[in-house]
Amino acid sequence: MSRPSRCVTILGSTGSIGVNTLRVLAEHPGKFSVHALTANSNSALLASQCREFSPRYAVMRDAAGAVQLQSELKNSGLATEVLYGQAALTAVASAPEVDTVMAAIVGGAGLVPTLAAVTAGKKVLLANKESLVMAGDLFMEAARNSGAAILPIDSEHNAIFQCLPMNAQARFEHSHLSGFEKIVLTASGGPFRALPAEQFAQVSPEQACAHPNWVMGRKISVDSATLVNKGLELIEASYLFAVPPARIEVVIHPQSIIHSLVYYRDGSVLAQLGNPDMRTPIAFGLAWPERIHAGVELLDLVRTGRLEFQAPDLERFPGLALGRAAAEARGASPIVFNAANEVAVAAFLAGQLSFVQIPAIIAGTLESAVFPAPLTLSDVLQIDAESRALSAELIVKAAGKSAGPLP
Ligand code: NAD
Ligand code: MG
Repeated sequence: MSRPSRCVTILGSTGSIGVNTLRVLAEHPGKFSVHALTANSNSALLASQCREFSPRYAVMRDAAGAVQLQSELKNSGLATEVLYGQAALTAVASAPEVDTVMAAIVGGAGLVPTLAAVTAGKKVLLANKESLVMAGDLFMEAARNSGAAILPIDSEHNAIFQCLPMNAQARFEHSHLSGFEKIVLTASGGPFRALPAEQFAQVSPEQACAHPNWVMGRKISVDSATLVNKGLELIEASYLFAVPPARIEVVIHPQSIIHSLVYYRDGSVLAQLGNPDMRTPIAFGLAWPERIHAGVELLDLVRTGRLEFQAPDLERFPGLALGRAAAEARGASPIVFNAANEVAVAAFLAGQLSFVQIPAIIAGTLESAVFPAPLTLSDVLQIDAESRALSAELIVKAAGKSAGPLP
C-alpha cells in the first residue's frame, strides 16, 4: 500500500526557492499535497501555481494583492481560498493538517511565520536563513520544545547536515559529536571574486545580481556578491549546529561543486558534492530521511575537471568579517547585522547606494546600535525595527556624497 501524501505549505512559492520546490513536487505526483502557497505581490504567478497545484489556501501579503488574485482565479473552478496578511501566513504555516513547511520568504519578513511553523512542531525546510540569524536562540529552543525537525535548505548547511551521522542529524548538539573538529563553509566568491578593489564602487545592481553559478532572488544575489551571505551563513551554522564561530571556516571554491565539509578529529573530512542546483537540497529536505529524484543531472567528475580553493579576501569583502564579528558577539548583533544589510541592499538595488557602501552601512549601524540581548520575539522585532531606522538614517547621510565607503 502506498503511504499517504505529505501535506506541504510553501511560504514564498513565487520566489526562486519556491518555484524550485514546486518543480520537485511536480516530479512526484501523489506523494505530496499542497496546503498553501504564498506570495508578496506576484498574483499572476501565484494564480498559475494555484491552477497547477490546487492548494487549499493562497495567501497574498496585502488586501490589494488578494483582490487581484481573486479576480485572476475567477472562473478557475478551484476551491482555493484566498487570504492575506501575517496572521494568515502564520495560520497556514502551523495548521494541524500540515506536515512540512518550506520557509522560502526572503529576509526578516519570513521570521514570524517560520517561527510559527517551528513552534507548531512541523518539519521545517529552512531556506529563509535571515529568520534563524535574527532569532537563533529562540528558534532553536522552540524546535527543541516542539520536536520540530529543521532541515537546512541553504546548500552549505544542507551539505553539513548530510555529513553528520544519521542519528545526530535531527538533534541540535552537533558540536558535541564524537570526534567533531570543525566545519568549512564553501563560497563561490560571487561575480566580483576577481574584481580589483578600485572597480567596486562602479558595479551596478545588474552586475551584482549576475551570479556565476546560481540563479537566485535579487537580495541573496547581492549578498553573495558582497560575501555578506557567507557572514549570514556563518551565523546560521553556529546556531543550527551549536558550533562556536571559531570552529567555522570559510573557503572560496569558485566551481560550487563541494557544498561544504565537516572535519573530524581522526583526519577524516566528509563533504557533499553535486551540481549547483537548489532542487538537490530541496528534494533532500522534502523526502528526509528518505531520498527522492530531484530532476537534477548527476555530477560528472571528469567533465567538471578542476576544483579550486582560495582563502577569502576580507579587505575587498569586509561583509564577511562583519558577519563573523556579529556571530561571535551574539546577543543583538546578528539582528543588527541582518537588518542593516537588508536596508542597505534594498537601497543599492534602488540605485540609492553604491556597492561598497553596503558593508559601510552595516559597520556604521553595528557601531551605533547598542541593544541588550533579546529574550522574546517582540524584543527581536523591536531591535530589528530600530536597526532598520538607524541604517536608513545612515543612508540618508551617505546620499549626496560621492560613491565610496563612508568615513
Ligand atoms: P526571492 O526573492 O526569489 O523570493 C522571495 C519570496 O518571498 C517570493 O515568493 C516573495 O513573494 C516572498 N516575499 C518577499 N517579501 C515578502 C513579504 N514582505 N511578505 C511575504 N512574502 C514575501 O528569494 P529566493 O532567492 O527564493 O530566497 C528565499 C530565501 O531562501 C532567502 O532567505 C534566501 O536567502 C534563501 N536562499 C535562497 C537560495 C537560492 O538559490 N535562491 C539559496 C539559499 C538560500
Ligand atoms: Mg548558501
